[in-house]
Amino acid sequence: MSVRTGQCLCGKVRFHAKVEPSIQACHCTQCQRWTGGGPLLSVRARDLEIEGEDWIEDYRHSEWGERAFCRKCGTTLYWKMQGRPVGYIAVGLLDDQSELAVTEEIFVDFRPSWFPAWIGATQSTEAQEMAKLEAFLAEQGK
Ligand SMILES: [Zn+2]
Ligand SMILES: [Zn+2]
Repeated sequence: MSVRTGQCLCGKVRFHAKVEPSIQACHCTQCQRWTGGGPLLSVRARDLEIEGEDWIEDYRHSEWGERAFCRKCGTTLYWKMQGRPVGYIAVGLLDDQSELAVTEEIFVDFRPSWFPAWIGATQSTEAQEMAKLEAFLAEQGK
């Protein structure tokens, strides 16, 4: 993990966080609409410190997830589980995107036909992801 800085388009929201070098591509239809086209490309982040939190708007699209964007410029910021710390930050926010690679594609059954697969990335379907989510939620419920 490396500490990286980033910001939204207008600069009202800035952050630094420890970021993993692997990018996850989510092809679910919610992410496609949220990003405006193509997958949500994000990196796992820890120890996130945000400046400009007043500019962040949360949108709950499901019973478990929460999507955040900048109220000023509309930039896609991050996705997280409700009531949990931020898990994934949109990779395009990072000031330095060197030495990152797409290693994981999820919800590949929703990947549009015009969008090619990443060679070498793991592929998982909605059914596989939902099974993982259910196992995670069951674990949290203990
Ligand atoms: Zn902004
Ligand atoms: Zn998605």
